[in-house]
Amino acid sequence: MTIVHTGGCQCGAVRYRATGEIGFPHLCHCRMCQKAAGNYFMPLGGVKWANFSFSRGEPAWFQSSETVRRGFCEKCGTPLFYDGSSDHISITLGSLDDPQGLKPRLQTNLARKMPWFGELDGLQHDTAMDMTPDEETRIAASNHQHPDHDTDVWPPENRP
Ligand SMILES: [Zn+2]
Ligand SMILES: [Zn+2]
Repeated sequence: MTIVHTGGCQCGAVRYRATGEIGFPHLCHCRMCQKAAGNYFMPLGGVKWANFSFSRGEPAWFQSSETVRRGFCEKCGTPLFYDGSSDHISITLGSLDDPQGLKPRLQTNLARKMPWFGELDGLQHDTAMDMTPDEETRIAASNHQHPDHDTDVWPPENRP
């Protein structure tokens, strides 16, 4: 059975589909990925262009260097792709519908890794700031993010 990976941006304007294994799942700590992600690293994995398609919309691209362009949703800004002008496209692993299903196996460009990165998991848990079940329900009721699966129609036509 062929594995099918789906994913997309938070607003649902860009959706993609990849078949087969996602290769080289890794965290890149380079400064360019940090800026592109607005985060401390970028989680990426590659699929051959031949096994990849856009199932809704297309991303906008920012040419971050001569050889690399980075794809994102023009409507909501979600970082989605890294295209290094090769036979494959890299996907941001957090944009997959099932991000838990693919664990990164490697990391790259450790020279720019945040020096305290390893301490993050030990940060104190501020339970007072956690969402209560009531808050979760309230937020879910007005959630405008696309769900973690393909949809035939988006946004829903019956939205108030
Ligand atoms: Zn979007
Ligand atoms: Zn990088």
